[in-house]
Amino acid sequence: MNRYRLTFFVIANLIAFAASAFAQSRTIIIDPGHGGYDRGGVPGQRISEKDKCLDVGLRLRRLLQASGYRVIMTRDTDVFIPLPTRVAIANAHLGATFVSIHFNCASRSGANGIETYYYRSDSASLAQSIHRNVVSGALTENRGIRRRVFYVLRRTAIPSVLVECGFLTNPTEGSLALTANYRETLAQQIARGIKRQPAPSRPLTASLRNVSLGGDFVRVPAENFSRSRKRSSKSARSHRSSKSSKSKSSTKKKHKKSSED
Ligand code: ZN
Repeated sequence: MNRYRLTFFVIANLIAFAASAFAQSRTIIIDPGHGGYDRGGVPGQRISEKDKCLDVGLRLRRLLQASGYRVIMTRDTDVFIPLPTRVAIANAHLGATFVSIHFNCASRSGANGIETYYYRSDSASLAQSIHRNVVSGALTENRGIRRRVFYVLRRTAIPSVLVECGFLTNPTEGSLALTANYRETLAQQIARGIKRQPAPSRPLTASLRNVSLGGDFVRVPAENFSRSRKRSSKSARSHRSSKSSKSKSSTKKKHKKSSED
């Protein structure tokens, strides 16, 4: 191979590598929670979680594909997919981003709001971006972002976020989740969060560190802060209450036990 051919060969491979890396960075793995015999939520829950997760996931796929993203679904029908399989799908696409969609539940019908989880430090910026956008569109409580060792967040080798899109056991949020309009809004806001996320390696900003409520809890203001200031300040007060955080952690434990998110 002469020098010119070698140069051409190297450049062509570099371009192919860069194109592949770019394509992977524009790849989103959407993971609708539960499915098949696993309805999600608590036993006897009236509104099935698995259906709502799938519906929002399919809407999100359509929106992201329209924006030029490559989308891979861990499931696009009502089928049970084991957690290790979901993780394997994610890890087969290094450079992609993993977004798991769930709805919350609690034995206390008053429990409400949006919360977002991440584990890997390179997922914090994505969690912030998705959370603040969903909160700005959902018009409910901002329960904040939590760092948690959930299977699909810990075992994935790519930036991974799990968003809980409201409580199906709450009369208001449950009724909203039954409407296509609201599920479309949730999908739109998650899509916005994905599109607007800062660089994955970006650490928490100083302003966000300042509102850290200790441990793994970080409150993030809604994207359109002026619209949600009233409920945010109310929510911040409730998060500082030890009684409130105790009841919330027991709520999560119950949900995670049934769904093993
Ligand atoms: Zn769930």
